[in-house]
Amino acid sequence: MREIYFDNSATTKVCPEAIAAAVNAMENTYGNPSSLHSKGVEAARLLGDARRVFAAALQVKEAELFFTSCATESNNTVIAGVSAAHVRKGKHILVSAVEHPSVLEPALALKDHGFEVDIIPVDRFGVVDIDAFTSMLREDTILVSVQQVNNEVGAIQPLAEIGALVKAKSPAALFHVDGVQGFCKAVSHPEAWQADFYSLSGHKIGAPKGVGLLWAKKGVRWLPLLRGGGQESNLRSGTENIAGICAFAAAAKKHQQNIEKSIANMAHVRAVLAEKLAELADIRFNSDLENGAPHILNVSFKGAKSEVLLHYLEMYGLFVSSGSACHSNKKGSISPVLQAMNVAKEYADCAIRFSFSPENTEEEALAAFDIIKNAVADIRGL
Ligand code: PLP
Repeated sequence: MREIYFDNSATTKVCPEAIAAAVNAMENTYGNPSSLHSKGVEAARLLGDARRVFAAALQVKEAELFFTSCATESNNTVIAGVSAAHVRKGKHILVSAVEHPSVLEPALALKDHGFEVDIIPVDRFGVVDIDAFTSMLREDTILVSVQQVNNEVGAIQPLAEIGALVKAKSPAALFHVDGVQGFCKAVSHPEAWQADFYSLSGHKIGAPKGVGLLWAKKGVRWLPLLRGGGQESNLRSGTENIAGICAFAAAAKKHQQNIEKSIANMAHVRAVLAEKLAELADIRFNSDLENGAPHILNVSFKGAKSEVLLHYLEMYGLFVSSGSACHSNKKGSISPVLQAMNVAKEYADCAIRFSFSPENTEEEALAAFDIIKNAVADIRGL
């Protein structure tokens, strides 16, 4: 049976360039980059090459980049590390209501340690409410975390505006952006947003799982999550995953070279599917079709519960998510993102996320529509 994979925000197929880079590192450059002999020097050289790729893509300095095991680690590092290092300046933290759990959970956990953690509300498409946000910024705010693109509905956050407000109203605060769903899907220059931290994940852009990145602006302070051998400038101990890092850099380089074409292609596939889906009765677009990210389309099919529909679609070779992959593990619960957007329960229960890669085609969108139309009709008729 033919397969159509529209779940690229959960994870992506590893691209040939990333596989080749990983195999090369594993077969030929297997030294430990901290070793002093030539094998170590060769591995350290690959690490340096990878750092250069990200420095160029993000327009930042190489010394400001720290490789991690995943974006969950990058996000936890920022929340735990900044709160620990800056506790004397204040105990107030702001995170948006639609953050990924790898931001929300560590932030909320700080409440047990005397921090005040306020949740910034969002509008009906998941975009931060700027007026509410402005009134929430305080002199003792030490950290603000707002993602670049929402992983469930594709809302693009007004980061330049948010960054300017943070620096004007809360000069003691550091600004963190979770860029996992934005990098390679939109312009990603964290300094242009006045950000201090930016988190990335390899497996969302065609690299294998288990590699991430944290950019931290020169001079900002945080306490490391992992201590030990002092790798990554003493800020993230643990022997670097050279194969994963090389694969991540190869995937990033490929995407950066084709970014405009890729964005246009994903936006086209999304528009074609959205236009066809609009023919169906009782649906709700949870994504902003005009202003949302090019690769995410979240739609509710009233009367066809997400989980039932997801498995029905899978029987016909179409792979999608109900909300985010991590949220879908929590059976029976409604997506907190859709709740924050005030989506009525009868629609929130029935949401499906389609997420695209640059390789998806218009023809796949049309074939997917036929599968969805029949599945929704069958389930509604049960
Ligand atoms: N942040 C966002 C917005 C995500 O979508 C994800 C993964 O779905 C993560 C963080 C976590 O990334 P990782 O799987 O690398 O830990």
